[in-house]
Amino acid sequence: MPARKAARPAKRPPDDRQVQELLRRCKSAKVELIRFLYCGNDGVIRGKACHARFLASYLRSGIGLTVAMQSFNMLDQLVAEGSFGPVGEIRLVPDPATFAVLPYTPKSARLLCDMLTLEGEPWGACPRSFLRRMTERAREQKLEIRAAFENEFTLARREGDGYVPLDRSPCFSSIGMDSAAPVILELVEALQRQGVQPEQYYAELGPGQQELPVRFAEARRAADTQIVFRETARGVALRHGLLASFAPKPFPDQAGNGSHLHHSVWRLRDGTNLFHDSADRYGLSAEGYHWIGGVLRHLPALVALTAPSVNSYRRLQPRFWSSAYTCYGPDNREAAVRIPSKRRGLEMESTNLELKPCDPSANPYLALGGLIAAGLHGLAERLDPGEAVLVDPDTLSEAERRRRGIRRLPTTLAEALDALERDEALREAMGEVLAREYLAVKRSEVRGFEGRDVAFEIEHHFYKY
Ligand code: GLU
Ligand code: MG
Repeated sequence: MPARKAARPAKRPPDDRQVQELLRRCKSAKVELIRFLYCGNDGVIRGKACHARFLASYLRSGIGLTVAMQSFNMLDQLVAEGSFGPVGEIRLVPDPATFAVLPYTPKSARLLCDMLTLEGEPWGACPRSFLRRMTERAREQKLEIRAAFENEFTLARREGDGYVPLDRSPCFSSIGMDSAAPVILELVEALQRQGVQPEQYYAELGPGQQELPVRFAEARRAADTQIVFRETARGVALRHGLLASFAPKPFPDQAGNGSHLHHSVWRLRDGTNLFHDSADRYGLSAEGYHWIGGVLRHLPALVALTAPSVNSYRRLQPRFWSSAYTCYGPDNREAAVRIPSKRRGLEMESTNLELKPCDPSANPYLALGGLIAAGLHGLAERLDPGEAVLVDPDTLSEAERRRRGIRRLPTTLAEALDALERDEALREAMGEVLAREYLAVKRSEVRGFEGRDVAFEIEHHFYKY
């Protein structure tokens, strides 16, 4: 893998002009509280807010946060074997470019944050800084990664001890479009008001399931957008007395919620798509195949980042179009990496790869950072992804899959974490502090659900993601 860059400059505080601009926007929208948000190792979005009166100073210094939060799991427990406890502090330092007034809740705005040390350096356990390191790694090779998380989510209401889906409309039906319209239209508008551009919409197969793909963007912006999307869907649904759940498998026997990770790699030199080659039968360049080679090589470990909750492994089963094997194929919706067919007239722009075993319980900075590390490894080593698979890989015999080097994806979070622990390249990319803490947090989640029933699992995943 490419050598790590040594020292990086500390993050610069926003300049006066930026501060004045945010203060002006707060004033004109009568904002009282500004949320400083981050996504933890557990994939839960958390934060603290400051009053508008103190925004200028907190923009510069960040808001203090106990280091313990990166040893917290999704059951809201401080992990006993975690490295971080009651002593020690970091700063949630916002990226001023992520400011937006919240359209779904009164008098509030938000900013997305890095976790910095008291000295203003990226903290070793900061997920957003990890993604920045990976985009810098790409940039050193004069490449830019573009991506979009393609979310599926479930609209439901709480009834007694359970959750009841909004409807049971048929897949892609206009019946479903009608029943979800009040929520979806408000969501579409709220996303746009925050600079996120919806591109398509449909009522998906699962009960109450929606899919609202948004426009791709440069990697870090795409990960920020994923936080904004989850926040906004939940906030808008709440106004309708509903829950927007991003749990990977909200109803155990029904379609899961994926967050397929579409991505492409662009040359900074001339702004062309590195993956595009019209001469290839699937329109993919040699580099594109090497990239897939890297992703498939690391996939059993990578899913610990892209499908990172206990509930994720209920989703990754054959015949649910979520993928269950390490293989790739053109428009193959059971393959872990799909090469989507190009759009006529937009051949270069639309060339991308779709990682299917990714779901919205993931911390998007970790998921995308891990994907970039794996893909760049494939490029650097010119890894061979093997033959494209043109059928559902589950229909191949065990022997045939072995011959083609196709492996079953981990069937539990514990297995995925074992694979991540063994994957030196991914651990090295994350850095020791982040990798260690992530594994500790996620292992504690595995234990937290051991011996508990499905209802307990669903209950905890349904409303936290
Ligand atoms: N719901 C499926 C999943 O869990 C994806 C269906 C599709 O959009 O192909 O990933
Ligand atoms: Mg879908």
